[in-house]
Amino acid sequence: MAAQTFDMIVIGAGPGGYVAAIRGAQLGLKVACVEREHLGGICLNWGCIPTKALLRSAEVFHLMERAKDFGLSAEKIGYDIDAVVKRSRGVAAQLSGGIGHLLKKNKVTTIMGEARLTGKGKVSVKTDKGTEELTAKNIVLATGARARELPGLEADGKRVWAYKTALQPPHMPKKLLVIGSGAIGIEFASFYNTLGAETTVVEVLDRVLPVEDAEISAFAMKAFTKQGMKILEKSMVKQLDRSADKVVAHIETGGKVEKMEFDTVISAVGIVGNVENLGLEELGVKIDRTHVVTDEFCRTGVEGLYAIGDIAGAPWLAHKASHEGVMVAELIKGMHAHPVKPETIAGCTYCHPQVASVGLTEAKAKEQGYEVKVGKFPFIGNGKAIALGEPEGLIKTVFDAKTGELLGAHMVGAEVTEMIQGYVIGRKLETTEQDLMETVFPHPTLSEMMHESVLDAFDRVIHM
Ligand SMILES: Cc1cc2nc3c(=O)[nH]c(=O)nc-3n(C[C@H](O)[C@H](O)[C@H](O)COP(=O)(O)OP(=O)(O)OC[C@H]3O[C@@H](n4cnc5c(N)ncnc54)[C@H](O)[C@@H]3O)c2cc1C
Repeated sequence: MAAQTFDMIVIGAGPGGYVAAIRGAQLGLKVACVEREHLGGICLNWGCIPTKALLRSAEVFHLMERAKDFGLSAEKIGYDIDAVVKRSRGVAAQLSGGIGHLLKKNKVTTIMGEARLTGKGKVSVKTDKGTEELTAKNIVLATGARARELPGLEADGKRVWAYKTALQPPHMPKKLLVIGSGAIGIEFASFYNTLGAETTVVEVLDRVLPVEDAEISAFAMKAFTKQGMKILEKSMVKQLDRSADKVVAHIETGGKVEKMEFDTVISAVGIVGNVENLGLEELGVKIDRTHVVTDEFCRTGVEGLYAIGDIAGAPWLAHKASHEGVMVAELIKGMHAHPVKPETIAGCTYCHPQVASVGLTEAKAKEQGYEVKVGKFPFIGNGKAIALGEPEGLIKTVFDAKTGELLGAHMVGAEVTEMIQGYVIGRKLETTEQDLMETVFPHPTLSEMMHESVLDAFDRVIHM
């Protein structure tokens, strides 16, 4: 059969790939999108969305436990883990189905199968029915990533889980060890801890959520500990002894190894890019560890071949993948495109309390030679936070003392993952401290704290 020809072929239908495909089609390009498993990729099926559905169940459960605080009564509060998981899988399925409709509506040709590059501009797709050959001047790699496995700590789906099993657990853990306190590890720790699992988190670096501002990490650490989590910082899991009903972990802290027993372990030690079996080596595509090397426009160095999203490296976030998808489609159309700057991308963690940040931490700003002005505002000083029964949290802002540029914003507390976008827009528009101080924030809202934090940096805070 003759090869089908397109203007643009996208390999992978995660938030990078499907968004690139839709934007390309909007611009009038003839687009094919190839996916080997589920439309929506990790994000919709095994990442962002199903975890948030689980965490919502935990949040409602936690609120029900606090019913009395709100003058309400709720008796015999409980949960059915299978029903909680069923809801999460249902949400994922609904959204994955929605991507199919969006691709169709935009006239993208969706091909379910495994794609491989067979030459410049050539893709071969293995489908259920055989092999399809496709050609295009432009090909976008958006094949994503998977859980990283450390020797000896590999997931087995029984007692030691990676994220896919943690999302549809074979049993409810009673005594849980989470290895790694990045966003994925902490979200699972938060979920299972809230539902009653005795949870220990081991972090090799010197603090929990190590990419966050040190003060935010410390705040979160205190909150997690208060909720009963045990957090071992500067510690390393050296070995796991597995048996049918338990795992003995050898955990090293300060040169001393302690053995601890758990019934379940979640390994959340990072991700590796899906770079294998794509024909990349043959085309001379550069790979650094497990990620395709690209320039700021996601170009691989091979003419007409782009890589976006998780396969192209950090930050491993769905919105970064999507934004790169749009940029690449516009480049292919011949439009003027702006590179995606990592420092403008917010990171959000949906644990309890939530954590969100954008830009430089105070330490990083100082390391880069900035003279900084720092503002802070605690949730306890905000009317809406008190009315919501969420008085624990902090908003911290970091400014360049010389120019008034907002260098970074860091938040911990209720709904901060929704609020951070206010600062993201501020940074994108290069607002000064003056603009932010002159902005009117509605009352009563949690967002008023964003204003107060800025006012505090310039010694004008009102409610503190
Ligand atoms: C548990 C968890 C929670 C997360 N939570 C968040 C969050 O809250 N917010 C956030 O921003 N990010 C979150 N992430 C990260 C987010 O899921 C990823 O950054 C995002 O999915 C990356 O998008 P992508 O399009 O690059 O790749 P993916 O979503 O991984 O999609 C790649 C697709 O390519 C397909 N594919 C691979 N190889 C081939 C091939 N050869 N042929 C055809 N198809 C192929 C795969 O099947 C997959 O569907 C989370 C991740 C995990 C694991």
